[in-house]
Parts: sequence; C-alpha cells; structure tokens
Amino acid sequence: MKYYDKLIFDLSKEGRQGYSLPANKWESTVSELPAGLLRSEAPALPQVSELDVVRHYTNLSQMNFGVDSGFYPLGSCTMKYNPKINEEIAANPVFAGLHPLQPAETVQGALRLYKDLAAALSAITGMAEFTLDPFAGAHGELTGLMVIRQYHIARGDLKRTKIIVPDSAHGTNPASAAVCGLDIVQVKSNPVGLVDVEDLKPLLDDTIAGIMMTNPNTLGLFEKDIREIAALVHACGGLLYYDGANMNPLMGVVRPGDMGFDVLHLNLHKTFSTPHGGGGPGSGPVGVAAHLASHLPVPKVVEAEDGTLYIADGTCKCASSPEGSGAFGPACGCAPECKCGCQACGQISGFMGNFGVLLRAYTYILMLGKQNIKKVGPLAVLGANYIKESLKDVYKLPIPTVCKHEFVFDGLADQSTGVTTLDVAKRLLDYGFHAPTIYFPLLFHQSIMIEPTETESKETLDEFIEVMRKLAQEALESPEYFKEAPHNTPVGRLDETTAARQPILRYKDLV
Ligand SMILES: *Cc1c(COP(=O)(O)O)cnc(C)c1O
Repeated sequence: MKYYDKLIFDLSKEGRQGYSLPANKWESTVSELPAGLLRSEAPALPQVSELDVVRHYTNLSQMNFGVDSGFYPLGSCTMKYNPKINEEIAANPVFAGLHPLQPAETVQGALRLYKDLAAALSAITGMAEFTLDPFAGAHGELTGLMVIRQYHIARGDLKRTKIIVPDSAHGTNPASAAVCGLDIVQVKSNPVGLVDVEDLKPLLDDTIAGIMMTNPNTLGLFEKDIREIAALVHACGGLLYYDGANMNPLMGVVRPGDMGFDVLHLNLHKTFSTPHGGGGPGSGPVGVAAHLASHLPVPKVVEAEDGTLYIADGTCKCASSPEGSGAFGPACGCAPECKCGCQACGQISGFMGNFGVLLRAYTYILMLGKQNIKKVGPLAVLGANYIKESLKDVYKLPIPTVCKHEFVFDGLADQSTGVTTLDVAKRLLDYGFHAPTIYFPLLFHQSIMIEPTETESKETLDEFIEVMRKLAQEALESPEYFKEAPHNTPVGRLDETTAARQPILRYKDLV
C-alpha cells in the first residue's frame, strides 16, 4: 500500500492544522441554536496540513480514468472531450447562483437560454418543439413514450398499448416502455444487422402505439429502409420514436424529423459533450413533431405576446375550462394548441431539467457554430471506419460494411488461445486506454464495441490501433499473462460478480 492510499484519517496527527481562523472577537460560546441541537463533543475531523490534503485528493483523483486523462473508446457512450469553456460558463455565478423557485420575472435570461437551446436542438433534429426537462436518456425515453401514449389517449384510441422494439435495441428502450406501461413486441434484425421489414409488417395493427428505433442502430449501421418503415408504421396509426442518444454521427448531416420520426430524445451528455459516467449528471431532452407539441410535459417555458417568458405548470387557465380545474389532458376540454400545458403528458422532473448540463450543451453548440457542427458527424464516422479497417485482420468483424460512429468486433480473429474479449479489455488498461464496451450488443458472443468520437486526433487513433494490434500478437505469445491483466492499474483483476454484489465501500472493510 502506498502512503497516499491511506484514508485522510490515517494521515491525521494531533495538533496539525492547515488553516487558521481569526479569533472570535465576541469571546462568546453562546450559540443561538437550541441546546438540544448542539453537539457535545468536537467533531472527529482529521488533523492534517494543507499539503497533506492536496496530495491526498490529487493522488486519489489520479487513480481514476477520464476523458481528460486518456482515450475512451467506449462504444455507444460517445465519450467526447468536454471543452473547458463549457465548465467556465456552467460555473458562472450568474447561472450557478440561480434558485429553482425564483419567480420567472427574475430569471428571464435563463428561460431565454432554455428556449434558445430548444430551438437549436429543433434545428439540428428537424423537430418542432423540445422539452429540456428529462434528466437522462432513459428518462427522455419514458417522457417520449408518455407523449405517444397521451397522443393516443387524447384521440380516444385506447387500444394502442404495444410498442415495437428491435432485438438490437439499447436495453433502456424495452425498460422505459415497460415503465410506461406498454407491452413490448420484438422485431428481428436481418442478416446484415438492420430491422427486418418483412418481420415488421405482420406486427402492425391497431394495437400498436409505435416503434422505437435507433438510427444508426446499436451496431453502428444506418437503417436505410427507415422511410419505408416510417410509412408502414404511420399507415397503421402508430408513431415513430427515435432513440437519439447516439445522434453524434448524424449531427448536421441528416435530421430524424426528415426520416419520418415523430418523437425523439437526445443525450446532451453524449453528443453535446457534457462529461458523464458514474451515473450523471445527464440530460435527455425530448423533441416532437408539431402535432405532439401540446403533449410535452410541464413545466414548459412559454413566450407571451410581449416577448416575456413564463412557466406553464399545466394548470388550465383557458376561458373554456372551469377556473383552476388543474386538469391534465382531455378532461379540461382545451384545444390541442393550448399553451398552458393542460394537454401535457404529465410532469417528469421537479424543476426544469439539469440546468448545468443545458448550459454546457448550449455553449458547445454556439462555440462550434452552424458550419463546424456539420463536421462532427463525418469526422466521428471517419475515425470509426479508420479503426475498423486498420484492425479487421486481427479482430473478427462480423458486419464488414461501412459503419457510422461505432462498430462491433466479435473478439480476436484467432480465438484458439482462449483469450477472451474480457481479457483484451483488461490488458488494454495496462496501456493507458479505457476499455471499449464489451459483451454488448448481445447479438455476438465476444462483442467489442468501439467508438472513437471526433475529438480524438489521428495520432491518438494510431496509437490505439498499434496497441490493439500488439494485444492480438501478445494473445498468441503469452495468453496466460492476459488472464491476469491488468498488471499496472491501482486495482488488478477483480471477481466481477463479487465486486458487483458485495462491493467494498468502506475503508474499514478493506483493512
Ligand atoms: C446511452 C444510451 C441510452 C441511455 O441513456 P442514459 O442517459 O444512460 O439513460 C439510450 N439509448 C442509447 C442508444 C444509448 O446509447
């Protein structure tokens, strides 16, 4: 154990201190707090110097891996660099100091930013309106599905309780649909990894609420039959949901709205550069076509005739409905274009989303500008294809066509040594790269899913390729060494089941 692996409490030395406060000039120990709330003993804080504290936390931070420390080829996760200007803007007290309960008159700038970001996302995706309220991709999926359900309910079309989900879908898709109370119907992929249109046709009837698709799909492939699929689903009365978590390869090139999608979510914490991992913070804005706009959740930011912005909380204020009925949906009898939110699918977050993430996304979009944002997709796609082509002789490539932002290998080309995808991922850590996504998608047994993103230079991609080739060679020469990798990381090979089921979360359980 290195000395800095110790807990800060172990570094404590009686009487040592890293601060000095001025003496209490009132010389009083009298507190205004009630006696019952006061502690009887001083808190057991570590007694350390400032240097001890700085070293301790700096060393701890270096045991972690992040996009600021190295390349992160985690497929499906779009781990792109988060430009530091984003952090500067998000930390600006003008925004960071706002209180979520402040009256709308006092936060017009923040509400304007909400509106402007929503408009930028509309322009990028071809949707009519956005809510920025959801806190994550999966949360956006739930919101979008609630919009779809509300649309059918508002039309009295109550039979539509089924949602079609491809077998290649991201796991959150069926999960969100189940949470929304929809029954999931699976549609198969064809041999080239795309939704099988012939398998889809017999599923379409008047019980179908819609279909959830990702395009490019989880294999990184563009669903080229999307126009036909959209026409088929619309013809049966269903709606099309677009999982836009991986909008990265399409940004500025193709708009889901033009493909025929009615509802979508984006992951601001992927495509729009907010850092993510470890559960957040995230943001999963939902965009809809015009005919669904009134069903977006409340609270909504609405622009009054005079240009001021206010927050519609869903309480019906329309002349046609009873004063303060507060009813959602058809109950209050409002017209669909009603702006007070009474047609909303409900409320899905306490306030108006993760504002810090919205600020980062907004900054990212403005810094790139209309011209440069169009380069994101093509560069990401170029990087992914470059890696794929450079490695396909040493890793098994089940789907050899041109990919979008990511692609999937099915393990090493030569699997006779017994070296698995897990072993490759672990050994890669020894070379200072984060592991790719492994064993997902489930369509292959040894999936290695790689996504480079546009922010990596060709030099970084070349280094990665070189190391991946070296690993393929090593696997042949010393497979046993692989089985015990990683060798150079703060923690070696873990029993993954025990690590997940019985994690050691307390220092005293470790020593
Ligand atoms: C990441 C991802 C999601 C889920 O997003 P979260 O923010 O993790 O909930 C959904 N679909 C796809 C395709 C994704 O890549």
